[in-house]
Amino acid sequence: MLRQFELVEKVAEYDPAIDENLLNKAYVFSMRAHGSQTRESGDPFFSHPVEVAGILANFRFDYVTIIAALLHDTVEDTVATLDDIKNAFGDKIADLVDGVTKISKLEFSSESTQQAENFRKLVLAMAQDIRVLFVKLADRQHNMRTLHYIKDPLRRKKIAKETLDIYAPLASRVGVQQIKEELEDLSFKEINKPAYETTHNRLKYLRASSAHPIEDIIDDLKKLLDKAGIQARIFGRIKTPYSIWKKMVSRNSTFEQLCDIIAFRVIVRTLPECYQSLGIFHNSFWVIPGRFKDYISTPKVNNYQSLHTTVMSPKHQRIEIQIRTEEMDLAAEYGIAAHWQYKQGGNAHDGKQYQLVCNLLQILEHTTNPEEFFENTKLEIYRDQVFCFTEKGEIFSFPKGVSVIDFAYAIDSWVGDHISGAKINGKPMPLKTVLQNGDQVEIITSSEQSPQSIWENFACTGKARTRIRQFIRSQQEQRMMQLGEKIIGEELQRTGINKEILNSRVFLSRFDCENINELYISIGEKIFSLEEVIACAQELAQTKQ
Ligand code: MN
Repeated sequence: MLRQFELVEKVAEYDPAIDENLLNKAYVFSMRAHGSQTRESGDPFFSHPVEVAGILANFRFDYVTIIAALLHDTVEDTVATLDDIKNAFGDKIADLVDGVTKISKLEFSSESTQQAENFRKLVLAMAQDIRVLFVKLADRQHNMRTLHYIKDPLRRKKIAKETLDIYAPLASRVGVQQIKEELEDLSFKEINKPAYETTHNRLKYLRASSAHPIEDIIDDLKKLLDKAGIQARIFGRIKTPYSIWKKMVSRNSTFEQLCDIIAFRVIVRTLPECYQSLGIFHNSFWVIPGRFKDYISTPKVNNYQSLHTTVMSPKHQRIEIQIRTEEMDLAAEYGIAAHWQYKQGGNAHDGKQYQLVCNLLQILEHTTNPEEFFENTKLEIYRDQVFCFTEKGEIFSFPKGVSVIDFAYAIDSWVGDHISGAKINGKPMPLKTVLQNGDQVEIITSSEQSPQSIWENFACTGKARTRIRQFIRSQQEQRMMQLGEKIIGEELQRTGINKEILNSRVFLSRFDCENINELYISIGEKIFSLEEVIACAQELAQTKQ
């Protein structure tokens, strides 16, 4: 576990804006708040937020993020409140902690893709500040590293599946390859241990038994570039068991070739050198057709940039080569987090933050590949939405401006019709209250309650408005029907005409009514005058005689 001064020194090294006092205060605050709590491993609970802060410090996140990481479980798991944090650390840090707490509270069943989709939307909605997402990802990364301490196998599986379904893709989406890969592999190990072990062992074996050792290939590549005066950093990067296994399953194949397990990274100094190196390799080796990809001129949606090619080595081994600059490599490994590293220094609260969120939004907006998140959906849509959840953690998304009434109708028409009160985030609130992003809403119903016309003033979803109108309309109709029946009944009695005549098809068709009730309503609402109806009844009564 990182000690207090170690963490502070580490952050001070890269963040010149650091408020050391505040960071020290957060360390102590979290340690005191978590007190004697322990994790399932037996470690003091406090070691967890410190590890999470350490992970984020490795990404060189600003000290504000590091403080949020230290405090991220205090509101959820200790007696400390959000107000305490606001008072001690200010609004910005309190907001970050609140965002992380909200994400942590979510319960969703991974069987339901809709729920998962909603979850992603929620994360995005709350990613007003992208740092919330990174604290959450680091939190999950540490929880996954210590997953084996959890004794209940079902709980372990559930966490692993959630990680694979939600957090790994999210990490990939913001371009943090390193977190994504670790999350995937740790989940894979838990969910399918035999497959993990087989793949892992096979990887080890192939690497050891290769006719053409990795170091030799690196040497060969280096020599070729040296001759052209290109300085390069070259290394072999073993693919992860999960990525290999996934490929094997999707292609229904086995892995036999070195190129299936290792990608060689060639990191050069400038962009022109990327293409120059590519030319050299293509000139020197046999190029495997269909494997060349230029992600430099056309970056991937998460801004990944690199040249990819596969060639045949002199020893008849296929070699996958990825060529890029140092900057592209950093972006590929750290994604959006890399921006913190480039633009570090100065005030952490200037336009950079906004820029980061814009980058994320842009990435999400330009997604057209159906395999990726948010398929065919422009993020613009989400900007005008709020996401709220029930006390059980079920998520509903709405257009901005919806009230408690809308929420009740979204749950169920019956719930809407019978809503008698509501609690938002535990506090009783009036039905007209406009919901905010992340609100937790508990609806109280009563079978005696029925929709009121005033509700229409603060309902904005189509479903709620239609139901309320329908109900009010049917109530009105009921009254008008009774009124109409009473008026015409009295009049018929007075004139001595048999009431049955109203129910004849001839009579009803004169007034264009489907049935007698409709006629009563029309009379009640004075669509037809009483005289008109009596005159017609008299006329028909006479023809019958
Ligand atoms: Mn945590």
